[in-house]
Amino acid sequence: MVVAHNEQPVNVFDDHGEQAPREECGVFGVWAPGEEVSKLTFFGLFALQHRGQEAAGIAVGDGDQVVVFKDLGLVSQIFDEQTLDSLKGDVAIGHTRYSTAGGVTWENSQPMFRVAPDGTDVALAHNGNLVNYLELLDEAHELQLVDKTKHPSDSAVLTALLSHGITEGKTLLDSARELLPRVKGAFCLTITDGHTIYAARDPEGVRPLCLGRLDKGWVVASETCALDIVGASYVREIEPGEIVAIDAAGVHSEHFAKADRKSCVFEYVYLARPDSTIRNRNVNESRLEIGRRLAREYPADCDLVIPVPESGVPAAVGYSQESGIPFGQGLVKNAYVGRTFIQPSQTLRQLGIRLKLNPLREVLKGKRIVVVDDSIVRGNTQRALIRMLREAGAAEVHVRIASPPVKWPCFYGIDFASPGELIANAVTTDNEAEMVSSVCTAIGADSLGFVSLDAMVEATEQPQTELCCACFDGIYPLGLPKGNENAELVSALQRGSCGGVDY
Ligand code: SF4
Repeated sequence: MVVAHNEQPVNVFDDHGEQAPREECGVFGVWAPGEEVSKLTFFGLFALQHRGQEAAGIAVGDGDQVVVFKDLGLVSQIFDEQTLDSLKGDVAIGHTRYSTAGGVTWENSQPMFRVAPDGTDVALAHNGNLVNYLELLDEAHELQLVDKTKHPSDSAVLTALLSHGITEGKTLLDSARELLPRVKGAFCLTITDGHTIYAARDPEGVRPLCLGRLDKGWVVASETCALDIVGASYVREIEPGEIVAIDAAGVHSEHFAKADRKSCVFEYVYLARPDSTIRNRNVNESRLEIGRRLAREYPADCDLVIPVPESGVPAAVGYSQESGIPFGQGLVKNAYVGRTFIQPSQTLRQLGIRLKLNPLREVLKGKRIVVVDDSIVRGNTQRALIRMLREAGAAEVHVRIASPPVKWPCFYGIDFASPGELIANAVTTDNEAEMVSSVCTAIGADSLGFVSLDAMVEATEQPQTELCCACFDGIYPLGLPKGNENAELVSALQRGSCGGVDY
């Protein structure tokens, strides 16, 4: 059963301005009979809010049926005490979603819900993007499970095919064993049939997914920060190519495919929360180390290192530690400018970056500043930021970036700008130094340095062969979606997301 429908459109004003990469979904699941599973899921989603701020939902199962409550908006806007009290059960899964304006519909919000041919309720939450979506869509359409003219999302197609396989004598696990080896691309799934929680991860392990232990139950979550918030202890990651089933019998694990790890390097740089740990490497530590290496690769003769808050903070601290240049807060972020139902007027929009960041003039005046940011995508924000720092009295502004230039689209669950909009592609030269110099001029900085790919990878302490770095090096370890030669499709995929590839 599915409830809650907010007709109010979500507007597209977000706290990253228009240029930052967008995280694409967080998933959570809990098996804990006798506990308040809906509230545990609410707090888990609250910790995963950074992974998706357009919609959220919780599915609760009591052994007989599954009830889904989902809507557009932030987790705290959708759920209140009364709603959570009404969602009673022993198991729950949850989802936070981010896509683009075109895909922001209640239908695309998750968990997805479907009733299988044998009457089993199925709810599914998905983080990632499928590269064989069109193939699976055709299959589901031919089986008359979906109407492809209505552009169902990849997650809706997965749910339809998974449910279709649950018939007399065939369980959800049987259906997953048949379906998942045929699914290509990035997927972390939490699924429930009302009494068991399933968690599955693609063979490449592109997005993170971990298992935690409660006193009286189990938790799965996109990031370890969500385990911390519900008081669960970290047990291990869900392995690439693994599906676990959690019920009264404990945790049952099996592999549906051989692991070939290609984890997203950008999780360490920007996407994951700094207090999360991915494959035994704390994200904050990675970012500090990137900052230190950035200082060695691109030193600057300056008076003060400042971060672009919040994501630039650890790398700026690392830069300061290595260079000996004092660290300071030169910019104040308004933490409450998030996705909002309030549409800023055109006049307010023109204030642009000031809605989000304000300079501390007393700190900046007369100083030569190093500004550390996590990435440059379109460059619009950096251009406005540098102008603002100069107006606030900075004598020089040197920009240091804690990732290499983003040049390629992501087909595995992150929504960057389209390739033509990436500032690193604005210059038609194969000469890296020329490109950096031209970007430096375009954003109005006194100097600019991007950390090298090798230094970034080494800071994650993961073998390079086990990472995806495609948006930086153009090497796509999971292949490209069918039809990628079609420029319009590439562009559409860029606008798509885990919840709704909008062709
Ligand atoms: S292309 Fe970039 S953002 Fe996408 S999975 Fe690979 S490293 Fe991560």
